[in-house]
Amino acid sequence: MAKQGSLSINSENIFPIIKKWLYSDHDIFIRELVSNGCDAVTKLKKLSVMGEFEEADDEKYKVEVRINPTDKTLTFIDNGIGMTEDEVDEYINQIAFSGAAAFMEQYKDKASDEQIIGHFGLGFYSAFMVADKVTIDTLSYKEGATPVHWECDGGTEFDMEDGDKAERGTTITLYLNDESYEFCNEYRCREILNKYCSFMPVEIYFVNEEEEAKKAEEAAKKDAEEKVIDVDVKDADTEDGDSEVTLEDEEEEEDDAPKPINQIHPLWTKHPNDCTDEEYKEFYRDVFHDYKEPLFWIHLNMDYPFNLKGILYFPKINTKYDTIEGTIKLYNNQVFIADNIKEVIPEYLLLLKGCIDCPDLPLNVSRSALQNDGFVKKISNYITKKVAEKLSGMCKTDRENYEKYWDDISPFIKFGCIRDQKFNDKMKDYIIFKNMEGKYVTLPDYLEAGKEKYENNVFYITDEVAQSQYINMFKEQEIDAIYLTHQIDTTFITHLEQRNPEVKFLRIDSELTDNFKETIDENEEKELTEKLSEKFKKATGVENLIVKVEKLKNADMPSMITVSEQTRRMSEMMEMYGMSNSS
Ligand code: ADP
Ligand code: MG
Repeated sequence: MAKQGSLSINSENIFPIIKKWLYSDHDIFIRELVSNGCDAVTKLKKLSVMGEFEEADDEKYKVEVRINPTDKTLTFIDNGIGMTEDEVDEYINQIAFSGAAAFMEQYKDKASDEQIIGHFGLGFYSAFMVADKVTIDTLSYKEGATPVHWECDGGTEFDMEDGDKAERGTTITLYLNDESYEFCNEYRCREILNKYCSFMPVEIYFVNEEEEAKKAEEAAKKDAEEKVIDVDVKDADTEDGDSEVTLEDEEEEEDDAPKPINQIHPLWTKHPNDCTDEEYKEFYRDVFHDYKEPLFWIHLNMDYPFNLKGILYFPKINTKYDTIEGTIKLYNNQVFIADNIKEVIPEYLLLLKGCIDCPDLPLNVSRSALQNDGFVKKISNYITKKVAEKLSGMCKTDRENYEKYWDDISPFIKFGCIRDQKFNDKMKDYIIFKNMEGKYVTLPDYLEAGKEKYENNVFYITDEVAQSQYINMFKEQEIDAIYLTHQIDTTFITHLEQRNPEVKFLRIDSELTDNFKETIDENEEKELTEKLSEKFKKATGVENLIVKVEKLKNADMPSMITVSEQTRRMSEMMEMYGMSNSS
């Protein structure tokens, strides 16, 4: 067989388009080619389950990624289904005809539930983003199949002829172009494999051919040396010495055994009942390199009305000043799509760390397309619902832990309530506040306890030390206050006031309510106001300063200065948005 022909596409030359526009991240070709290898294996496994292919007893499916820095090549080898000449014609020569889609169509009712990754039909051609020339060597699993060699140098012409591949499967070789040599750098290549392929469902091995050759050379040298020693040992001593040498050899071999770079059964694919706490923690360390233990986690596991699995971790925040920055990794059938896609994951959930696998999501996510996608909205709502259920459930049935974690999880919950109406509706009754006695109360609890005295005012403390004088005053009057010490609290109380217009939050050092004041003689007030106004205006340099004099009930305290809640909050907001207030 020898054949030449034109790639059957309508467009004049699709390569410039593929190169420029198909994917914004060039490194994605590695994901595409490795996932094609995994697909090829998955297909063969399916055929085996259906009795159309007989697996060898010691069948070991794998995908190998080989780099050769000297030759500037990258090779992807799988021992999957392979392709016949006709199949190469159909699946490769017709660009954008997705073989995966055809396969699924053909076997959709008989197949097991193993998933096939590709469904886009352009994955293979992403190789041309980085390669001048690509070759395929493939041998189909079908009995009596002829191996096929295919090559294309990035024009619209390809060459196809009988090949010499002796083992079942497919080898794809990329001859990297000048701008893409980085991809045959071991460090870079491993980094990309880690990013996209860490959880793909078939074992993946990485080989640096240069290093491999070096090692082989060294091993051969060592072997030769050892033979000499061997002979020495035998000459000098008994058989005992001989067996010791053998033992060492074995140990070394075990250390050298290549390990797959991926986990083919990531924890989220298991049923929550089959996962132990230790496994969850280990997975967290592995994936997020965070050696602080997570507080707790939610394992999402849903088949209907869409398929979604994943684990969301609530990270431990060390101090309240830590910037909280999570990562949610998105997968499609164990193939990494991207981090932190705001369209799928509600923004406030991005403070968490986790993995979400949703096979119904397209691999090639265009963010703008996702924005108005009803399906994506459903996913996002589902996640919100699950997280709210977990948290409110914990508050109801495991209040002790809920309170223990509150300091860490409250910024996240508050942010969620501010940003997401649905989340707010589900969580608003489970917001708790620490009061002056160190007990946790809800807003209604607090208001109810102080019904007579507080007049729907909620007094709060932001700094126990700086506000200690006021705290004492409150204690004396037997008026409770709650602690609000997180940065988000300023915004959060405004949010609460908007939703509960009858409630007003007052920091304990802001304007005093009547509980603390005594009536003051009119003349005395006038005199003091005039005197103090002058002093304060002079001190602050603010001409239109308004000074108000009030008399405290507490005689122990000679005087105190308060700033109105509104004025202070305003300047805090300005500060937060980076505006300075010079007046
Ligand atoms: P998709 O994976 O979305 O179908 P691709 O462009 O990645 O699109 O691949 C096109 C088709 O080529 C695949 O569906 C498959 O039939 C065939 N193919 C690609 N790579 C391999 C491979 N390693 N082994 C067997 N078939 C392959
Ligand atoms: Mg593909």
